[in-house]
Amino acid sequence: MRISMASTMSALETTVIDGKAFAASITESIAAEVAALKAEGKRAPGLAVVLVGEDPASQVYVRNKGRQTTAVGMQSYEHRLPADTTEADLIALVERLNADPAVDGILVQLPLPAHLDSSAVINAIDPAKDVDGFHVVNAGRLAAGLNALVPCTPLGCLLMLKHFIGDLSGLRAVVVGRSNIVGKPMAQLLLQENCTVTIAHSRTRDLAEECRQADILIAAVGRPNLIKGDWIKPGATVIDVGINRIEGPDGKTRLVGDVDCDSALGTAGQITPVPGGVGPMTIACLLRNTLTAAKARTGSGL
Ligand code: NAD
Repeated sequence: MRISMASTMSALETTVIDGKAFAASITESIAAEVAALKAEGKRAPGLAVVLVGEDPASQVYVRNKGRQTTAVGMQSYEHRLPADTTEADLIALVERLNADPAVDGILVQLPLPAHLDSSAVINAIDPAKDVDGFHVVNAGRLAAGLNALVPCTPLGCLLMLKHFIGDLSGLRAVVVGRSNIVGKPMAQLLLQENCTVTIAHSRTRDLAEECRQADILIAAVGRPNLIKGDWIKPGATVIDVGINRIEGPDGKTRLVGDVDCDSALGTAGQITPVPGGVGPMTIACLLRNTLTAAKARTGSGL
C-alpha cells in the first residue's frame, strides 16, 4: 500500500508494508515444504508449546500458535500446566520433550509465573529444539556468526528488510531497545548483513538525533508513539516492533506501535503498521524455525 502525504517541504510516498500478506507467503511456502515431506512418507515436524498459568494474553498466543502449526500441516502438542507448577516439574516436562523424537521444537510461553526462573527453564531446552532462539547457546552462536536458531521477531524483521530493501550492506541501522528477545539479536542480524549498527536504549543521550542517522530504524521499546516523524531520515525504512495497548478518546482500547505512524507518513520510505506489520511475521518465523530445527536434527530424514 502506498500512502502519499503532502508536507510543506517535500512530499514523499510512504509504503505501508503489509506484514500479514508477507507472513502468509512465508507460511504458504512452509506448508508446501511440509506437504512435500509427508508425500515422501516422512513424518510432520512437531512443535510443543508449554503454557504455565492462566495469563489471558498468553492463552491467546498459545491458541494462535497451535492453530497455525496445524494449518501448515505440522503436529502441535500443547501442554497446559497450573500456575503453581514447581520449577522441578516444569523442567522435568522440558526434559521429556527434549527426549521425544516426534518433537522438533519446544516453546515455553513467557512470561512465566514469578516463582519460576525463566532463564533456568529456557536453558533446560535442548538448543537444537529451541525454536524461540532464547537459549544462551543459540544467543552465543548468533553473536559468534555461527548457525543458530534465531529469535522469531528479529528474524521476521530481517526477512522483511531483505525482501523490501534487498541488499542491506553498508546501510546505517539504528535499533532502539536492547532486550535479549528483540533488540540485541536484531542488531546481530543486521551486523551479519554488513549494516553499520547502533543500539540505542533508555540511557541514550539524544535518541532523536541517533534515529535521524538511520537508513533502517527498528523500534523495539514498548512506549506508545515514542518515535516522531521528525526523528526519521527521509526515505528510511522503519520497522515498528512495539505493541502497546492504549485507551482512545472513546474509552475503547487499541493497539499502537512505538512509532507515531501518522507523523512518519510522508517522511519514511516504508513503514510497518501496528497491528499487521511485525506481529504476523513472528508466528511465521516460529514455524520456519520449527521446520529448520526438524531438518537439522534429523538431517532431513525426519
Ligand atoms: P523490553 O522491555 O525487554 O525492552 C525494551 C527496551 O527498550 C529496553 O532495552 C530499554 O532500554 C529500551 N527503552 C525503554 N524506554 C526507552 C526510551 N524511553 N528510549 C529508548 N529506549 C528505551 O521489551 P521487548 O521484549 O524488547 O519488547 C519491546 C516491544 O516490542 C514491546 O512493545 C513488545 O510488546 C514488543 N514485541 C513485539 C513482538 C511482535 O511479535 N511484534 C515480539 C516481541 C516484543
